[in-house]
Amino acid sequence: MNLPPRKPEILAPAGDMTCLQAALDAGAGAVYLGLGAFNMRARSSANFSAEELPEASRRCREAGARLYLTLNSILFEGELAGVERTVRDTRRFVDAFIVSDLAAMRICRECGAAFHVSTQMSCSNSVAAAALREMGASRVVLARECTLAEVAEIVRKSGIEVETFVHGAQCVAVSGRCFLSHHAYGKSANRGECRQPCRREFLVTAVDRYGRPGAVDAGRDSPPEFSVGPHTVMSAKDLCSLPFVDKLAEAGIASFKIEGRARNPEYVRATTLAYRRAVDAVYDGSFGAALAEELQRDVSRVFHREFSSGLFHGRPGADQFTDKEDSASAVVKRHVGIVADYFVKAGIAQVQVQDAALRTGDTIQIHGASTGVVELKVPPLRRDDLEIASAGRGEWATFPCPRVRRGDKVFKLDER
Ligand code: SF4
Repeated sequence: MNLPPRKPEILAPAGDMTCLQAALDAGAGAVYLGLGAFNMRARSSANFSAEELPEASRRCREAGARLYLTLNSILFEGELAGVERTVRDTRRFVDAFIVSDLAAMRICRECGAAFHVSTQMSCSNSVAAAALREMGASRVVLARECTLAEVAEIVRKSGIEVETFVHGAQCVAVSGRCFLSHHAYGKSANRGECRQPCRREFLVTAVDRYGRPGAVDAGRDSPPEFSVGPHTVMSAKDLCSLPFVDKLAEAGIASFKIEGRARNPEYVRATTLAYRRAVDAVYDGSFGAALAEELQRDVSRVFHREFSSGLFHGRPGADQFTDKEDSASAVVKRHVGIVADYFVKAGIAQVQVQDAALRTGDTIQIHGASTGVVELKVPPLRRDDLEIASAGRGEWATFPCPRVRRGDKVFKLDER
């Protein structure tokens, strides 16, 4: 196997500080995040505030990871000054901006800020990639439509760092060229507002010869309707590259990007850990089908809509569409309660149960902005020096636990 000397970076999404910490703890080489404007999750809650950015940057630098800020929506005239202000105000906290609009590229260049060209640009060939390099980009995130052979060729010919998505949700539409949400709701996917109508099931309703709904035949009081099936016909399965991650590394991709800035911390932790382990194994020679299967099982425990290999191996067929409108996760997460206290010297957590009962032997996760995600099997529970088998709603219990913090949220993970 002919591997480039430098391991590909594992680039994790972060929608909040808990996700960011989970990503760093899981071995991310870089994280990407947005600030609530000019990015592809602009209308979601998965954004950092300007006040949080210095802390996010501090944590990344301490962990030896890079921080990329997304500024990749289509820009309109009245937004240019805001983008420039954002770049100037934040560049000292940011290793690179992820942009797609030519105006954002020029602003970054004039401000002396490094920038990567977003997949929203749909860069799909080496000449376009080289042109972006000449325009000052230090990296290009290729369109998801490129096959692995095309990616390898672009890496070889373009002379610019290449990043590709390796995991997470995919669009049925060509990278960043979808108007379904805009058509249905007036909310543009290209402005970070996608309402994901592609994930729904659809009915076909008969119309009259002028295209108006309501072609009612004799004997009916409503137009005939047919369900389009047998599944959610436009909802693509998630991409999972774990079975062929060695081939991606060999292709010379500099950065493996995990989709999902709106995903929860356990998704960020599980996916980052899986790709970290996979890449490390590729480089130490221990990667193989058994490990790929194990890691695929790990990532199927968090949000996903079934898995496919995306477009890396060619054009998709019907088997690349899911019939799951929601998550196909093998695990159900239930809220247990909060960490009421943590005794640092003893390494003991006290948990106040507010919802689902806590039992010895449960698999739990504890989430917090400083804690990230801590997962453990619950050791024997105690209350007032007595061993107890469980704690129900309104009760508390203590148990040995890695460092967590007061106020952290506690969840249990039950197999489906
Ligand atoms: S509607 Fe679906 S295909 Fe279109 S941008 Fe949104 S998620 Fe992607």
